[in-house]
Amino acid sequence: MILLKTVEEMRGFRKRNANSSLGFVPTMGYLHDGHASLVRRSAAENDVTVTSIFVNPKQFDDVNDLAAYPRDFDRDAAILTKAGCDALFVPEADTVYPSGFQTTVSVANVAAPLEGAGRPGHFDGVATVVLKLFNMVMPDKAYFGRKDAQQLAVVRRMAKDLNVPVRIIGCPTVREADGLAMSSRNVRLSIDERAAATVLYRALEAARDAYDLGEREAERLRAIMLEVVSAEPLARVEYVSVANSMTMEEIDEASGESSATLLSTALRIGAVRLIDNLVVGDPM
Ligand code: AMP
Repeated sequence: MILLKTVEEMRGFRKRNANSSLGFVPTMGYLHDGHASLVRRSAAENDVTVTSIFVNPKQFDDVNDLAAYPRDFDRDAAILTKAGCDALFVPEADTVYPSGFQTTVSVANVAAPLEGAGRPGHFDGVATVVLKLFNMVMPDKAYFGRKDAQQLAVVRRMAKDLNVPVRIIGCPTVREADGLAMSSRNVRLSIDERAAATVLYRALEAARDAYDLGEREAERLRAIMLEVVSAEPLARVEYVSVANSMTMEEIDEASGESSATLLSTALRIGAVRLIDNLVVGDPM
């Protein structure tokens, strides 16, 4: 795996591989098997795979969360090599945002509720950096986790609206044995908090079980999730949601016919904000 530190080096790599299909996995580092699964998929589907590690300051609404974001370059490089990554792109913040930078990509409706409502400016930061990275890497396909379902919907919308010549591939959420979705933030949980964090998946599973038994009333599904989450004293609920998985709009009925239904929740456990989701009905 080669290391690319500047936009010029990245462009040089792309030129040398101009006739190869290129798969791209954007990340913020501190990698786990969820990230590795995206890299493995890209390596299987493309001639070359590029992963970026860039902790994007513009998508953090909370300076403490940015400062506390874990970093371990050597471990990340070893995981990527093993997963089949060919090039690791690690641009510096001041090359991504040189002085005088003043352009923002803003996706409207799909970015507004849920994570967009709870984290002002977050999706502007995501859409802007993802478009910039697409312009630097020029991938044929880009791989995103369904763990961040709204991010996936925002990126799809942005790429479509702006005619970006890239195929966006959504990949399944990788979980720990007890159901907790893998996340770089999980290492910040204490032992008690880590045990409490299983409540996200338990709440989603309870709602999915009810859906599987025929419950379609969204308010009832929200109530089921809320009941599970409220029983966990270490968890503070930000939202439980039953929404259309493409538009992110809250729905009344989980019909599962015109579009899949996204069950999702965001919680704070101690100082850590965690999100998770499950899709019922047609897959995204
Ligand atoms: P991040 O480093 O958190 O920005 O994540 C980089 C990419 O990895 C995003 O597309 C995430 O959705 C994806 N990702 C993060 N956690 C998981 C997971 N547990 N399973 C699958 N994909 C994930």
